[in-house]
Amino acid sequence: MAVNFQLLLSEIYREVLPLQSQGALAYYIPELAAVNPNMFGMHLRRLEGEEAAIGASDVKFSLQSIAKAFTLALAVSLIGEKIFERVGVEPSGSAFNSLVQLEYEKGIPRNPFINAGAMVVCDVLIDQLKNPKAEILAFVQKLADNNEIRFNEETAESENKFGFRNHALANFVKSFGNIHHNVEEVLDLYFHICSIEMSCNDLTKAFLLFANHGKVFSTGEQILNSSQTKRINAVMQTCGFYDESGEFAFTVGLPGKSGVGGGIVAVHPEKYAAAVWSPRLNAKGNSVMGMKALELLTTKLGTSIF
Ligand code: GLN
Repeated sequence: MAVNFQLLLSEIYREVLPLQSQGALAYYIPELAAVNPNMFGMHLRRLEGEEAAIGASDVKFSLQSIAKAFTLALAVSLIGEKIFERVGVEPSGSAFNSLVQLEYEKGIPRNPFINAGAMVVCDVLIDQLKNPKAEILAFVQKLADNNEIRFNEETAESENKFGFRNHALANFVKSFGNIHHNVEEVLDLYFHICSIEMSCNDLTKAFLLFANHGKVFSTGEQILNSSQTKRINAVMQTCGFYDESGEFAFTVGLPGKSGVGGGIVAVHPEKYAAAVWSPRLNAKGNSVMGMKALELLTTKLGTSIF
């Protein structure tokens, strides 16, 4: 029997609503602390084009670490697997902004999704692109087929001002020689990519790249080959939720990426992309309602990649 996806999302919304008061905003970034904590939106887009939406699915929010999936995809499309000589593919088991492993692993971040790893990817993009900010934004706009997607300058600035840990991380990696450019330039780019604002609706379109063997959903342009796409999905599966990646694999069973703006996007290769936004986070920095909504989605559909 064909699944009624709209009904499915309504059911999920009803079931996650009791969790609405759990968790806290990302207070360490002042702009994010000002968001209405009770927002919830979800969007599902199947590769064949069918879609379903609930709540604030077309309200834009701060991508934060979700953007790291886009910068990784762009870096892989430009220099291929060479990127993995400077950043690993192992889960860290530590918080996204932890400094400890970097010391004994000599400045090679465990993976491209912890902050230090994403900074190394930004450093590579500064090497490869003439105008990194504009070209990264154009890349994301193309994936989502939406020219209105922008950086939020206030968020980028506020994070730069208060991101003492990120400044420490970038300087630390630089001390090992794994950041080549000026630290301030790399951090400026890093804070900008984190500040990109998109809706769940935009995100499912963009993430279908990872469900579709590296082809842009709206144009069919091949950006990554199948092997590169598989590898990015593998890193999302094992590292996309920092020290909660095991939990996400265990309860949801899909590759995905979260951000401290409260967004989560998950991908079922060859089938669909699903995005959820709800700003209250658990202690690991992942959206409380978002994690539950995606768990319910794969449970009710009875499918995951496992
Ligand atoms: N910009 C955030 C930071 O660097 C991104 C972290 C996240 O979303 N997990 O702290």
